Amino acid sequence: MTKKICPICHGNGYVTDADPESQQTAHRDCDTCDSQGEIYTAVSDPDTLLQDMSKSFPQFWRNFTNQLPN
Ligand SMILES: [Zn+2]
Repeated sequence: MTKKICPICHGNGYVTDADPESQQTAHRDCDTCDSQGEIYTAVSDPDTLLQDMSKSFPQFWRNFTNQLPN
């Protein structure tokens, strides 16, 4: 297991949500690292890497999974 900076909040412990309609932003606790700013991960674990990718790039992930055969 390796400790690394949380890729979602970049070590801040919170993430910023932006409302595209009102242009307002709000901070909320980072679920990925439980507001710790760091996460423990197994470097060679492909499932963990995929989970990180799906959280970091949700739009990319949706496009990718939509292309998978049923
Ligand atoms: Zn985080």
